[in-house]
Amino acid sequence: MAYVISEDCVACGTCISECPAGAISEGDIYKIDADACADCGTCADVCPSGAINPAE
Ligand code: SF4
Repeated sequence: MAYVISEDCVACGTCISECPAGAISEGDIYKIDADACADCGTCADVCPSGAINPAE
């Protein structure tokens, strides 16, 4: 399981510094490396756009 970033991402950069696993990379829409993600949910808690959710 990993978290995923949806198209609601506005690339604000809030999540990237919060991820303890360094799994988030920048882009037009930020991306989470599913192999690196520890499934902690920290990024989802801080995202102001509600764009980060657990993968289904
Ligand atoms: Fe990083 Fe945790 Fe978000 Fe995974 S769930 S991308 S480990 S902050």
